[in-house]
Amino acid sequence: MKSRFAPSPTGYLHIGGARTALFAWTWAKKQKGQFVLRIEDTDRERSTQASVDAILDGMSWLGLEHDEGPFYQTERFDRYKEIIQQLLDEDNAYYCECSKERLQILRDELTEKGEKAKYDGCCRDKKLNSGVVRFKNPIAGFVTFKDAVKGSISIGNQELDDLIIARSDGTPTYNLTVVVDDHDMDIDTVIRGDDHINNTPRQINLYEALGWSLPKFAHLPMILGSDGARLSKRHGAVSVMAYRDEGFLPEALLNYLVRLGWSHGDQEVFSLSEIVELFELKDINKAPASFNQEKLLWLNQEYIKSASVAHLLENLAWHLDHQSVDTSTGPALESVVAHLQERSKTLVEMVDGMKMFYQDFDEFDEKLSAKQFKDSQPLELLLTKLSALDNWVADNIKDQIKQVCTELDIGFGKIGQPFRLALSGNGNAGNIDIVAQLVGKDRTLKRLQMALDYIAQHSH
Ligand SMILES: [Zn+2]
Repeated sequence: MKSRFAPSPTGYLHIGGARTALFAWTWAKKQKGQFVLRIEDTDRERSTQASVDAILDGMSWLGLEHDEGPFYQTERFDRYKEIIQQLLDEDNAYYCECSKERLQILRDELTEKGEKAKYDGCCRDKKLNSGVVRFKNPIAGFVTFKDAVKGSISIGNQELDDLIIARSDGTPTYNLTVVVDDHDMDIDTVIRGDDHINNTPRQINLYEALGWSLPKFAHLPMILGSDGARLSKRHGAVSVMAYRDEGFLPEALLNYLVRLGWSHGDQEVFSLSEIVELFELKDINKAPASFNQEKLLWLNQEYIKSASVAHLLENLAWHLDHQSVDTSTGPALESVVAHLQERSKTLVEMVDGMKMFYQDFDEFDEKLSAKQFKDSQPLELLLTKLSALDNWVADNIKDQIKQVCTELDIGFGKIGQPFRLALSGNGNAGNIDIVAQLVGKDRTLKRLQMALDYIAQHSH
């Protein structure tokens, strides 16, 4: 059994494309079959190597590894020519020399009469030897097929005109290359977006003219943005790699994508192996799915919370490098990640939270320091006590804070809040004693002194 993902390299890997890829990949894994990656690069003007790389990077980041390919259509032109010739030889195709002007007049006439604009078959029996090549679509009867998602679909052949399968320069067109590839690559389930469903009856006629057996078809409903329009850039990030950049875990994105148009009861969180186990084409929804950023963010947080520290570290490496955070001096990365795991919605947030442990800063948040750095006495006393502390562990640090509270007869907030700001610079820190332990004794003392300097400078 084989399924495929066949993107055109004319941009980044889109969220919608990634969902199609995930469904096709899952279906192949479930059948213990092969997943084929095919790059449909016949549009030479719009296809770029950068886009090919972007697709490969996106697929690899998501972990949707292909078993075969990537195949490139531009490397298969000889094969397409062979099939076009075969269709010509067997009288299933013909040359058409109609000028653009004639076709335009034809279209206008039909449109004026309120009819569907289609080619009139003018050159069908002329036996010409040059021009574009058109497929001889059957004139009567119906094309009927059972789509795994949409159910039974039937289109009258009168609705379909004689499709151009080769341009006048001999290059093949989309519908021909897809049919030849899916046949040659033994694809038995074609899973793709329902923007392709109008092409399917024409492709089925081509399969039949060539005497090839039909694959199964599953056309996936669209993904909509929050306003009900087709998901696009104006709804936020639509490129898979933008989600990597924004600090999402690939498995969280995959989990979110599989739920766009597929469900299994009320379950929301699925591991990839569970997806493979539970996925069925018949459970794909017919209705379009809506993309919900909030839900994706919630899932990401769930995945961060439950991930192993080692797994988070693997995914953090790119972000740390990207943000130039040097973690070679400072606390063990594992301890910092474990500390931040419960409080980070994204890996970007986590890296922001890590900075205080590895980077010095020379300013405190303006608003917070004006509010919290007023009284030097508690911080001074804490500095004295912590300077004398030998065994720098959270419990001991906590004891010192408590003693400051007792000796000065103040509540925890009076020392806890300013201490948190002194350590973090921006007040974003969790459990203060653990944070101080991780920041380390030297940096803690330095930052307390910096806070005291601030108070001295700002008091009159
Ligand atoms: Zn013609």
